[in-house]
Amino acid sequence: MADNKIPYKIYLTEDEIPKQWYNVRADMKNKPAPLLNPATLQPLTAEELSAVFCEELVQQELDETTAYIDIPEEIREYYKSYRPSPTIRAYGLEKALGTPAKIYYKFEGNNTSGSHKLNSAIAQAYYAKKQGLKGVTTETGAGQWGTALSMACAHFGLDCKVFMVKVSYEQKPFRREVMRTYGADVTPSPSMTTEIGRKILEEYPGTTGSLGCAISEAVEVATHNEGYRYVLGSVLSQVLLHQSVIGLEAKTALEKYGVKPDIVIGCAGGGSNLGGLISPFMGEKLRGENDYRIIAVEPASCPSFTRGVYAYDFCDTGMVCPLAKMYTLGHGFIPSANHAGGLRFHGMSSILSQLYADGLMEAISVEQTAVFEAAEQFARVEGILPAPESSHAIRAAIDEALKCKETGEEKTILFGLTGTGYFDMVAYEKFNDREMNDYIPTDEDLQKGFAGIPRFPGNMD
Ligand SMILES: *Cc1c(COP(=O)(O)O)cnc(C)c1O
Repeated sequence: MADNKIPYKIYLTEDEIPKQWYNVRADMKNKPAPLLNPATLQPLTAEELSAVFCEELVQQELDETTAYIDIPEEIREYYKSYRPSPTIRAYGLEKALGTPAKIYYKFEGNNTSGSHKLNSAIAQAYYAKKQGLKGVTTETGAGQWGTALSMACAHFGLDCKVFMVKVSYEQKPFRREVMRTYGADVTPSPSMTTEIGRKILEEYPGTTGSLGCAISEAVEVATHNEGYRYVLGSVLSQVLLHQSVIGLEAKTALEKYGVKPDIVIGCAGGGSNLGGLISPFMGEKLRGENDYRIIAVEPASCPSFTRGVYAYDFCDTGMVCPLAKMYTLGHGFIPSANHAGGLRFHGMSSILSQLYADGLMEAISVEQTAVFEAAEQFARVEGILPAPESSHAIRAAIDEALKCKETGEEKTILFGLTGTGYFDMVAYEKFNDREMNDYIPTDEDLQKGFAGIPRFPGNMD
């Protein structure tokens, strides 16, 4: 089909919202390593996991053989309020770059939470409700996940307890108030409401908190209160499963116009949007039906894939979560304070880690000033104000398109635009005032993080 027939936005109909999620693990020859109980170093059983997570989500977490899992009608109904999300041809960006490359992006920012996180939040809230639970607990840093979960809990009439890292609670009052508007109970972490919080406050009075500490508090409240479970917005295989709606819709939209991407690009924090975007493409690659270049983009200041080690590590700083085998910088790693661009998690999804270890995808790291330059250029020509996280993918897409300009190749690039940046204006302000700089951890910095990774036979030895 002639190129100029492709609309700026490719919308699907409501009926074309996927009816099933796709579980890429079913097509992986080398399955991701199982989560381990840190006390016994044995794979966690469904029973052990059910003390913390909802039952159906535990089944999804452990299911590595069912390729397609039905999306319950109640979840699909909610998806209809903001999906299908558009697949957009970046005509403006292509023109500005003067590239022969064809650039598409899948935009997930068209809902009040402003990101893709709602795709999994609504699923997790649904299963909690179905189990007859009273509510769920979680942690949030900057607040995107907490916002998405608050919306989902409001929809199903569930209580939502969010532990928000204290420094964000104080410095980012807007997201906090969005969560409260949707009915969530938002507590600055560490708090006096939990045993672990009181202990941390006693040890470190005046601490501004960390994600690891907020996770510990959220897990404690979930396990100490009848009718509550803990939910997590990234990293876990169940979250990648829910996020497969992104890739399934994008693939359907492109196929309508006979378009096949050569390169698929996504930003990587814990790996949920990237995993969701690439899943159906990776499935074809794994089954030998098609080939794609797949690129994960991470911040140079938190380079899990590109400079981390592939080992079992805790998912949280507080060491209350299970051990996951993943590319990690060590659970004690904290990105430099001047890092403003999100994607701060020390580890990575175990599915993506296995795919990367098997050479099925690439990873690159980018520096934050270059990321904000890409964000600014994109905003001016495409109109959407991108989230800093998403802008990592924009940077990589622009760089690939510029390579095409040099070689004259007409490659087709698809990237994930995970969200909008309206709540990230402090970071944009730094960039606009030219106060933003880059910090790349030294090898010595990284060694400190690696030193904290648990040692046991077969791990880090
Ligand atoms: C949370 C978030 C990310 C990173 O999380 P992943 O699990 O790696 O997808 C990226 N973009 C936005 C807008 C986010 O809110």
